Amino acid sequence: MKSEPGRGPAPPVPDTCVPESYGPVPSDTVVAIVGPAGSGKSTTARALADRLGLLYVDSGAMYRALTWAAATAGVDPGDEPALLRLLDAADLTLRPDRGEIAVFWDGRDISAAVRTPEVEALVSAVSAHASVRELMVARQRAMGRRQGVVMEGRDIGTVVFPLASAKIYLDATLEARAERRLRQHRRRGLTVDRGEVLREVESRDRRDSERAASPLRIPPDAMVVDNSTLTLDDQLEATEAAVRRQLACRRPAAGFAEGELSSRYRVAYAIFGSMGRFHGLRVVGREHADLHGCILAPNHVSNWDPPILGAAFAGKNHIRSIAKEELFRFPLSAMMYRFLYSIPIRRNIYDAAAFDRAADILARGQNLLFFPEGMRRVYGEPGPVRNGLGLLMQRTGAPTVPIYLRGTLAPQPGGGPRAPLEVSFAPAIRLHALPVLGRRLEPRALSREIGRLFEAIYRELQERSAERHPFTDWEREAAERVRAAIMSKEARTFRSRPPL
Ligand code: C5P
Repeated sequence: MKSEPGRGPAPPVPDTCVPESYGPVPSDTVVAIVGPAGSGKSTTARALADRLGLLYVDSGAMYRALTWAAATAGVDPGDEPALLRLLDAADLTLRPDRGEIAVFWDGRDISAAVRTPEVEALVSAVSAHASVRELMVARQRAMGRRQGVVMEGRDIGTVVFPLASAKIYLDATLEARAERRLRQHRRRGLTVDRGEVLREVESRDRRDSERAASPLRIPPDAMVVDNSTLTLDDQLEATEAAVRRQLACRRPAAGFAEGELSSRYRVAYAIFGSMGRFHGLRVVGREHADLHGCILAPNHVSNWDPPILGAAFAGKNHIRSIAKEELFRFPLSAMMYRFLYSIPIRRNIYDAAAFDRAADILARGQNLLFFPEGMRRVYGEPGPVRNGLGLLMQRTGAPTVPIYLRGTLAPQPGGGPRAPLEVSFAPAIRLHALPVLGRRLEPRALSREIGRLFEAIYRELQERSAERHPFTDWEREAAERVRAAIMSKEARTFRSRPPL
């Protein structure tokens, strides 16, 4: 193993997250502002949108509008089909209005009506229905695709825009938040009792974080701003700085210094590259992988995934892979995986030795290929993501590039009409919220959160890929063909245990 890349002292890994200046931000920027009731989401999101030149969208106002409409029409907040019919038929519009958001339901201005305690008492029940959320989320995504937005709401960073350009979690103590709500109600001329507001905020916290559909969570990649004791100006400064830093992190590194490639890798990339060209491989967002010491995290559908990924990644840096130990038992595959210095991993236990080696590789600034699903999955249905990825990210703090692989189940010349062969890279995910989340959650629980985020990201990348090239009949049939085999293999591999 004399020529194994990266033996010797680890080179420093450069910080690429340095904001350039306080100029305008790209017009397709999507900022997610998340936080509990009364954390200042609306005020912050509105002011931030103004500063950054983006559209402000208050997603809570959309749920409030439906709640108002249900109450007005006498629809029970528990009657999911009736709520869905109401929303589906309605023209629900949000319009900026003197710094506030005006809400219109079928042309009627209901801006004041949606802010009453009556609506507030019912809105959590209305917004807990999965099908209602699905329709709201589709509308919210459509807004973010038309133009850059600052969107506030509990699930914006985890479900609506898992790949938002920047995510902020605003936090404040229960008392500070109740105090703000109290002032808000008073400004609107409502008489309310302090103790009642406190209890109301507390119970809304509980309902919003315990519900099954899209509960309130800190997105693991959000920057947390606690504003309990900050003035509004200071809070806005802190938030804008956090947004700009995240935007800088996502910008492909200018002047990325390529690593010195070992001869083995040059040979491998040349072979994989010509294979990719032969099969008409399309690559999207390759520049996002121009990082040192990052984890490359693709979905997994076929044994062709590693070479096709090698073809897409070609040439710039080493990728060391973690591969199931079974592959090292057969002479031919063992030779190939050893040739590329892969690390064997046992999958039905926590393989500490493999994780140690992986962490060492990342610390040396080399990139690591890791399949977060732990095995090949049903084509077209990425996930579940197992806990290994989250544990490795927590331990190493390595930026992790989500990658969506498509068409590798049957590589064919030109991508073929049966399935386009495509690799799409997303900007790296960084665990900005780790210091806060690490105090609140056990490592495994946090890994589940990270896993959920990546599952949402794969779905999003898949959706974008399907927008470029709709899924073919062959792809749908292929998914069905492998489903039963994959399911029984999963039971054997992980002994039917749910993700660690
Ligand atoms: O943010 P706001 O207080 O206006 O939200 C009102 C309610 O709407 C929340 O308590 C929550 O139940 C629901 N909501 C939601 N998802 C969002 C925004 C709001 O479930 N993205």
